[in-house]
Amino acid sequence: MNTSEIREVTAREGLSPNKKLGQNFLCSDAVVERILAHAGVTPYDTVLEIGPGLGAVTEGLCRAALGVYAVEIDAGLARFLKTRFAQEPRLTVIHDDFLKHQPIPGITKAVGNLPYYCSTEILFRLAEEYRTPKIFVMLQREMAERIRALPGSGSYGAITVTLGAFYESETLFKIEKTAFYPQPEVSSTFIALTRREDPLVGDAHIETFRALVKAAFWGRRKTLATALSGSPHLSLEKAAASALVREMGLDEKVRGEDCSPGDFARMAEHLANHGPS
Ligand code: SAM
Repeated sequence: MNTSEIREVTAREGLSPNKKLGQNFLCSDAVVERILAHAGVTPYDTVLEIGPGLGAVTEGLCRAALGVYAVEIDAGLARFLKTRFAQEPRLTVIHDDFLKHQPIPGITKAVGNLPYYCSTEILFRLAEEYRTPKIFVMLQREMAERIRALPGSGSYGAITVTLGAFYESETLFKIEKTAFYPQPEVSSTFIALTRREDPLVGDAHIETFRALVKAAFWGRRKTLATALSGSPHLSLEKAAASALVREMGLDEKVRGEDCSPGDFARMAEHLANHGPS
């Protein structure tokens, strides 16, 4: 749909783009085609679409997939989609908050032009609960940069480490604001995340890994040992935190933002196996 078609449809249906829900609809067929080409959906795929909006991407996903589950929080949009795609047996439109909806089993790919106010939580959910093999998402440009940031850089954070332990990421293309109606205030980037065949963190250590990452970035300007021992996310004495840093072969002055996802994975394994020493 182009801008005038979106205006016409939303007026006819009594819908008005809700800024709080991140409703910026794609109005560029070229961008939709690029998203679909990269997602490479096949008849073997069961696709989860988060925030289908007016269905710009949904239509193409349905053409290619075995099935599509489209989860939309907005009642008016969900109603519109059910009518628009009434003849599409491969599509299930779910009116719910994706963050609250019970996980849907059997998803092979997740696709979404994500609402930016909750994209971090959505990605955590896809990574940790769904364990989605392939994720294709449009994100605020700064968020995409955070995911791909290198240790020691200002953008490096908990999301970089958490996703990095389970996924390889790739920047696919950048999208200008003019591809959306209404135009957002920020620019966007479309990225792919591919689940590692052998994630850096084993199931047995995930809880400890999460707590360590939260603790380290809770005090990102502190040394790692000080952040780990002072954080409400972990109960570790200062001496034990210092010993952990030493045993990992890290410098005593190292900060959480200098540690790679692999370093955090090794720390989690060590703590889970040996406890604080
Ligand atoms: N996919 C459409 C497109 O590209 O034109 C719409 C994308 S728009 C950036 C984000 C969509 O996510 C909106 O339709 C919004 O209502 C929906 N949304 C926002 N928060 C949501 C949530 N927690 N769960 C499900 N959908 C949500």
